[in-house]
Amino acid sequence: MKVDELDYTVLTPDVDFERMLTCIERAGRNCYKSEDKITDESAKAFVAMLIKRGHEAMLEHAPNIGTLFHVPRGLTHEFVRHRLASFGQESTRYCNYSKGKFGTELTLIPMMDGLTSVQIERRKDLWEAIERVYLAEIDEGIKPQQARDNLPICLKSDIVITTNVRHWREIFRQRTTKFAHPQMQTVMKKLLADFRSRVSVLFDDVGTVD
Ligand SMILES: Cc1cc2nc3c(=O)[nH]c(=O)nc-3n(C[C@H](O)[C@H](O)[C@H](O)COP(=O)(O)OP(=O)(O)OC[C@H]3O[C@@H](n4cnc5c(N)ncnc54)[C@H](O)[C@@H]3O)c2cc1C
Repeated sequence: MKVDELDYTVLTPDVDFERMLTCIERAGRNCYKSEDKITDESAKAFVAMLIKRGHEAMLEHAPNIGTLFHVPRGLTHEFVRHRLASFGQESTRYCNYSKGKFGTELTLIPMMDGLTSVQIERRKDLWEAIERVYLAEIDEGIKPQQARDNLPICLKSDIVITTNVRHWREIFRQRTTKFAHPQMQTVMKKLLADFRSRVSVLFDDVGTVD
């Protein structure tokens, strides 16, 4: 059994982040027929103006952003509630964790904050027992899609989430507040800080990174 950390990887190429503001500006200026005002530096201020006015539909014209999350299954259950996004999620039906490529073990991303050493040891005992049962059932010919009934909700699950800027903004609004799950807050605050560093005007006014 392996215990791992929350992580993410932004899959969208840098060049797409660079194009975002110009794509939004082109669509937005079409509404006002002010294309003649486009310059090499005009996009940022124009997009800031759209956001300030609540004209956020224009944000859908930027290239979609894809991110690979390395999170517990409990978080992927929450992510997939965001209906406008596209998902590709690690399958416990098809992934056989007894195989070498998975290290012949379960990988978990648990939330250990605030647990006493006694509680941590009790959990480790439970997870080791779960892993033994899972691996034994696979060895006895049970398929992963049935052996998965044993798996804990902190099982590591990789999920690719792709959606447009407007929807990411809504996801950050919901998933960085103090009401979001602590692990969700951790990973989404880091991602929001990352997005802000790439294209600040699109993400500065939503969510929190503190
Ligand atoms: C702190 C927190 C606690 C939660 N607890 C629970 C819980 O206990 N149980 C539970 O089941 N879920 C829970 N959720 C999930 C929540 O109910 C939503 O399913 C999830 O946050 C997705 O958000 P959403 O539905 O606003 O919009 P998304 O699906 O992300 O869609 C984005 C936006 O599109 C618009 N939209 C989408 N669909 C419609 C529609 N049909 N009609 C009108 N407008 C639409 C809305 O403006 C929406 O905000 C929780 C979420 C949070 C953030």
